[in-house]
Amino acid sequence: MNITHIEHIGIAVEDMDEAIAYYENVLGLKCYAIEEVPDQKVKTAFFMVGQTKIELLESTDPEGPIGKHIEKRGPGLHHLAFAVGDVAQSLEEAEDKGMRLIDKTPRKGAEGLNIGFLHPKSTLGVLTEFCGKK
Ligand code: ZN
Repeated sequence: MNITHIEHIGIAVEDMDEAIAYYENVLGLKCYAIEEVPDQKVKTAFFMVGQTKIELLESTDPEGPIGKHIEKRGPGLHHLAFAVGDVAQSLEEAEDKGMRLIDKTPRKGAEGLNIGFLHPKSTLGVLTEFCGKK
C-alpha cells in the first residue's frame, strides 16, 4: 500500500466564499487553486499546510455526494486522503483485506490525480481516500 503522508483532508462547506475567508483571514492560509470536478458535482478549493492540503468541497448539485452529506450531517470533516504510490494496487490490497470499496478502480480527482474511496462502513466511520499520480 505504501502510504507516504496525508495528501489532504476533505471538508464539506455550505458556502465556499465564507469558508475561504475563514481559512485565509483567520488561519492565514492561502487558497492556491479553485477547481470544479463535474464528475463529483463539487467545487473544490485548496490550501497547503506543510505537505498536506486542505480541500474544501462545496456541492454544485444537492443530489451529489457532498450535497447529500451536508443534508444528512451538516458541514464539517468529510474525508481523509492518504498519498499512495499506486491507487489501483492500494484499492485491490484493501479489498483483499476485506474492505468494502466505493471505487473498484481509480478515477480522476482534482489536480489530475488518481483517486479511489473506501467505504466508511469498513473503515470505522472515516471516509478514506487513496490519492496518487499512478
Ligand atoms: Zn479528497
